[in-house]
Amino acid sequence: MRDQLYINGQWVSPDLGGRFTSFDPATGRPLREVPAATEEDVDHAVRAARQAFNRGWGQSRGAERAEWLQALANELERNQAELAELEVRDNGKPLPEAQWDVADAIGCFRYYAELAAELDQRQDQTLALPDERFRCRVRHEPVGVAGQIIPWNYPLLMAAWKVAPALAAGATCVLKPSELTPLSALELAAAADAIGLPAGVLNVLPGLGADAGGPLSQHPGVDKLAFTGSVPTGAKIMSAAAQDIKNVSLELGGKSAFIVFDDSDVEAAVEWILFGIFWNQGQVCSATSRLLVQEGIAPRLIERLVEATRAITIGNGLQPGVLLGPLVSQGQYDKVLGFVEQGKACGAKLLTGGRRPAGLNEGWFVEPAIFDEPAENAIVWREEIFGPVLCVKRFKTETEALRLANDSRFGLAGAVMSGDPQRAARVANGLRAGIVWVNCSQPTFTQAPWGGMKQSGIGRELGVWGLENYLEVKQVTEYVSDQPWGWYLK
Ligand code: NAD
Repeated sequence: MRDQLYINGQWVSPDLGGRFTSFDPATGRPLREVPAATEEDVDHAVRAARQAFNRGWGQSRGAERAEWLQALANELERNQAELAELEVRDNGKPLPEAQWDVADAIGCFRYYAELAAELDQRQDQTLALPDERFRCRVRHEPVGVAGQIIPWNYPLLMAAWKVAPALAAGATCVLKPSELTPLSALELAAAADAIGLPAGVLNVLPGLGADAGGPLSQHPGVDKLAFTGSVPTGAKIMSAAAQDIKNVSLELGGKSAFIVFDDSDVEAAVEWILFGIFWNQGQVCSATSRLLVQEGIAPRLIERLVEATRAITIGNGLQPGVLLGPLVSQGQYDKVLGFVEQGKACGAKLLTGGRRPAGLNEGWFVEPAIFDEPAENAIVWREEIFGPVLCVKRFKTETEALRLANDSRFGLAGAVMSGDPQRAARVANGLRAGIVWVNCSQPTFTQAPWGGMKQSGIGRELGVWGLENYLEVKQVTEYVSDQPWGWYLK
């Protein structure tokens, strides 16, 4: 079953019969052969999604969709432990982090179930108009067929962030997971199948970016494109959307800054800085990969950071106590080590890490790395590495810290730590980013808006904003006066 595509409520073989291999990052060895969707499969899935939309899903009540979303959450919950383990094998992340992801994905389905039910109450609200001859009501209608393309760093969670609000809104979905981590999305399809979700409401197409993602983004039957991934691919998706003016939302990369002031507690700062850059092996769009430390605290803080970084346990994510697993792929491993070489070449001081850990001779493991004082124009300071590499710079004043933090083409996230709440609030307000953490870094809640400014994307996911992504707003304005309008008929 799981070795087929999920289209129109059925498991089907890919049109061209192609397959690709998913690897275990901890060993670098093949894990499973996965079906590869291509253009014809995409067309089949988009047509199925359209039919499902027209056949009733798009016109169903929110309360009814809420029940389906709760049933999906229940089904995922039933397999929670297996799902977390599968995610570790496919992605490499430590098991406790995979367990968080699965729990968050389930929570996301439950949250949007509530919003789906609430949508019924928001329907047909009347607007007060300044002319009593008219009555106006506002409707929130589903956008239609959503093409959803996701990355590999949080495979099931990214699928949930896309699918749950779309189904809640009454849209139907064609989901393309990353070719590096397709397995948990197939489990989501299996969960939809197990609960008997109406055929075509959710279609899952593993496949390569150009072969499956490309046709999906270009398909004229797709009304909405929702993409999470890199900036270059985001630009392609946006161009494809421009051809027939598709609604598009983009969650892209980041190079987020963490500003630590002298009045911070050193140990608390170490904890959040490490978590902010090294959890999920640093493969986090919102990772606070640029650390800005005020001069006074810098010597003590950096010394403790290096010490604590060296003490991080690296290994297979399934082993208890491991905090840092392997990177997701050979390509990602080569890319991150390439950035480390560039950092060294441009004169930044490598304080620790940035190489294969001793004793781990297979798999894509990299020791967490810290670069000291890269130049402002250094590639490691400016570009998203998407791996366990932290760059540190010192600053003197609040103004200088904000200038350095905002000097980036990205604007996804930022963090500030200070014992002075007023200063922390000032800096939080001054950061040009869609997500700001104060005295912490990374905690993410389904209720709060998620997304970036500048090249980090367009639109917001999660919270009520996530639902709006999949809704069209319609006004219905009615002439209720018994008097003629008086333009032609006097
Ligand atoms: P990627 O852009 O390489 O791939 C993302 C998805 O796009 C994959 O499913 C891929 O198959 C597909 N794709 C590739 N080429 C395509 C094409 N021509 N047409 C259509 N689809 C195509 O990104 P990635 O390496 O999977 O993920 C890492 C990136 O994602 C990082 O830049 C990271 O910051 C970003 N990201 C952002 C967020 C966020 O919420 N802002 C979350 C996670 C990851």
